[in-house]
Amino acid sequence: MDIHEYQAKDLLAKFGVPVPAGYAAMSVDEAVAAAGKLPGPLYVVKAQIHAGGRGKGKFKELGPDAKGGVRLARSLDEVRAHAAEMLGNTLVTVQTGPHGKQVNRLYVTDGVDIAKEFYLALLVDRKTGRIAFVASTEGGMNIEDVAHQTPEKIHTFDVDPATGLMPHHGRAVAKALGLTGDLAKQAQTVAAKLYDAFLGTDASQIEINPLAVTEDGKLMVLDAKVGFDSNAMFRHRDLEELRDVTEEDPMELEASKYDLAYIKLDGNIGCMVNGAGLAMATMDIIKLNGAFPANFLDVGGGASKEKVTAAFKIILSDPAVKGILVNIFGGIMRCDIIAEGIVAAAKEVDLKVPLVVRLEGTNVEEGKRILAESGLAIVPANDLGDAARKIVAEVGKVAA
Ligand code: ADP
Ligand code: MG
Repeated sequence: MDIHEYQAKDLLAKFGVPVPAGYAAMSVDEAVAAAGKLPGPLYVVKAQIHAGGRGKGKFKELGPDAKGGVRLARSLDEVRAHAAEMLGNTLVTVQTGPHGKQVNRLYVTDGVDIAKEFYLALLVDRKTGRIAFVASTEGGMNIEDVAHQTPEKIHTFDVDPATGLMPHHGRAVAKALGLTGDLAKQAQTVAAKLYDAFLGTDASQIEINPLAVTEDGKLMVLDAKVGFDSNAMFRHRDLEELRDVTEEDPMELEASKYDLAYIKLDGNIGCMVNGAGLAMATMDIIKLNGAFPANFLDVGGGASKEKVTAAFKIILSDPAVKGILVNIFGGIMRCDIIAEGIVAAAKEVDLKVPLVVRLEGTNVEEGKRILAESGLAIVPANDLGDAARKIVAEVGKVAA
């Protein structure tokens, strides 16, 4: 689960991380009122969308010469003009894709005199299974570009969970950023507080870009991207309130309501599978047969008929889906339950694309009987290879 910059900064401030003052605004008047509460004379009006690259982004509705999604303002009138131009319009950045994202919220914050910008992130390093710091002197730029062009400027080190954060980690951050004296001390403090925030919220990433040194020698977080481990959200009911569902993929959102693991992909074969391993194998074998999956969908071990119906509807609501492959191994979940769910859903949604079903395991004969007697044009398959070949052939027929 991701949150907006202003929410991330409020949260980090609670852990003692230095951020400039600022307020969220949902309307032009609120933006002006927010600026009125700040000391001025320099304000920054920032589009709040779940994507980075806003500064260099472009608004679809405005001309190519219009300013991007992060704008400086020197008076309340300027704040008003920027807010009016940004709210309701669509911001396209390197991270939003060509469709862009509609700006419905703004953040009005203190303008800071920046001497230098750094990059500092915490994430879970999958190789070591530990929380890792990633630090670079090249802040304010796209970190992927830095990694590509000057990988030696990115420093990574992880933290042993048995010892937790040690003073040497803080010193390593300061050194990686080339800081000495008082700024090095500030960097150590910021590193420690970010680590506290990461652990305390079960974050999956905290990315600060830029972490700025101000002209008067202070370290400040000017942009923050924070994401949480969804599997730990039950421990953080308060954080769940920060969720902005308008920023999420509607199908993934619907899937999360039913506790389904769903991820949209680029192909045209919808997949309904139980178990992550089997889902991966199913996607692989579709590819092996020359086609591409439209999604990853794991209905889980103990799915109900309702869950299967919901999963089916979600797959079908994707217009890219030209055929569906159901591949279920009935262990905890019985094949007859799956079959009932498939039949109910197929009838409810008026299925128009080919459907190949491969069932195996508990009550498989009963499951196959339910499918065969349903009167629906379901293509039965005997094993994984057979199923993949059949759905690829069926989709090929539709395309031809
Ligand atoms: P994004 O990464 O989405 O483009 P940022 O918040 O990083 O958005 O803003 C882009 C740039 O705007 C920053 O690299 C920084 O130079 C400048 N900026 C952002 N916030 C402030 C601020 N409060 N004061 C001064 N400059 C800022
Ligand atoms: Mg940024």
